[in-house]
Amino acid sequence: MITIEQADRLKQLPPYLFAELDRKKAEAMSRGIDVIDLGVGDPDLPTPDNIIKKLAEAASEPRYHRYPSYTGMNAFREAVGRWYKKRAAVELEPIQEVVSLIGSKEGIAHIPLAFINTGDVVLVPSPAYPVYAIATMFAGGIPYEMPLLKENDFLPDLSVIPGDILNKAKMMFLNYPNNPTAAPATLDFFRTVVGFAEKHNIMICHDFAYSEMAFDGYVPPSFLETPGAMDVGIEFHSLSKTYNMTGWRIGWAAGNAKIIGGLGRIKSNIDSGIFEAIQVAGIEALEGDQQCLADMRHIYTERRDVLVDGLRKLGINAESPKATFYVWFEAPSGYTSSTFAALLLEKAGIVATPGNGFGAPGEGYVRMALTVSRERLAEAVDRIVKIGF
Ligand SMILES: *Cc1c(COP(=O)(O)O)cnc(C)c1O
Repeated sequence: MITIEQADRLKQLPPYLFAELDRKKAEAMSRGIDVIDLGVGDPDLPTPDNIIKKLAEAASEPRYHRYPSYTGMNAFREAVGRWYKKRAAVELEPIQEVVSLIGSKEGIAHIPLAFINTGDVVLVPSPAYPVYAIATMFAGGIPYEMPLLKENDFLPDLSVIPGDILNKAKMMFLNYPNNPTAAPATLDFFRTVVGFAEKHNIMICHDFAYSEMAFDGYVPPSFLETPGAMDVGIEFHSLSKTYNMTGWRIGWAAGNAKIIGGLGRIKSNIDSGIFEAIQVAGIEALEGDQQCLADMRHIYTERRDVLVDGLRKLGINAESPKATFYVWFEAPSGYTSSTFAALLLEKAGIVATPGNGFGAPGEGYVRMALTVSRERLAEAVDRIVKIGF
C-alpha cells in the first residue's frame, strides 16, 4: 500500500458549488421527473452539415493522420487571419500572431503557465467562467477578483484596484459578450483597458467565445480592433458556440506575437495540436456558407423572447440579452441564488445555475441557458407560474 495524496494545487481548489444541485438533479431524474435543463452552456443544435461533410472527407485522407503541427496548420491560421480582417478589420500575421487551440478552454488554462511566476497577480472578473482563476492558481499565481456589478453594466471598475495589487499584477482576463451576465463591452471600455494595460504593464487576455452569438443587429467588438490592443494582449476564440461545435475541440488565440509565442511554447511541451481533419473542417466553418449564423441567431432570439417575456410577466426583472445564450436575472425577493435554484428544481423540475457559483458577486442572481426548444422554454415558464412564489 502506498499513500496516494493529491497535490496542493488540487487541494486548494474551491469547493464545487454545483455539487448539491447536480445531486438534486440526478435525484429528480431518478424519480422520473421530466427535468428541463437550463443549466449548461452547451448548444443543443447540431453542427451545420457542410462542416460535418468536410470532416468526413478529410478524415479519410492519410496525410491528416499523422501528428499535426503544434501551433496549427498554416491553412487554418491563415483562415483565422482572413476572418479577423473581414470581421474586425484587424490585420494579423497568421504564423506569428495566431495559435490554434484544442478548444479555447485549453489555451485559457495554459496561458498562465507561460507568463505567471509564483506570487504574481492575475486580475480576473467575478462572476466568471471558472477557468481564469483556476488556471492562475495552477501556475502559482494569485487571482484578484474584479467584481462585475449591475451598476457598472457588468464591466470591471479598473479605478478601484489597489496600487499594491497593480504592482504585482501581470495579466488580466476579460470576457465579452460575457458569461454568465450576458453583458456586452463597448469599444470605449476596451480603449480604457488598453490604456490601463500600458500604464501598469499588464497583459490582456480577452475571451471572445460568444462573438457571433448576438441579436437584434448587435455586432460585438473584438478587443483586437481597439487601437494599441495588439501591443498589450491577445484574444481567445472558439468555434464551439458559433458553429455548435463544442464536442469538436477547436479554437485559437490571436494577437500579440510575444504572448502567442509563449503560449505556443507551453503547448508544444504538453500537447501535439488538433487533428488536422478537424482543422480542415474548421476552415470550412469559417469560410463556407454562413447562413447557419443567421439561423442560429434567429433561433436564440425566439427562445430568448419566450423566456424573458415569461419571466417578466411573473414580475421577475430579466434583462433581454443582446448577446450570448444566457439570461441573467435577480432572484425574486426573499430568495438567494441557491434557494431560488433549489425551488425551481424541486417545485418545477427546472435546472438553473445559481449565480454565486460563478463567484461571490453573482450572489442573488440566477443564470438560465437558452439551450432547449422554444416549446420547452414555454413549458418552463408555465411551470414557474404554477409555483406561484
Ligand atoms: C463555452 C466557453 C468557452 C469555451 O470553450 P471551448 O469549447 O473550450 O472553446 C470559453 N469561455 C467561455 C466564457 C465560455 O462560456
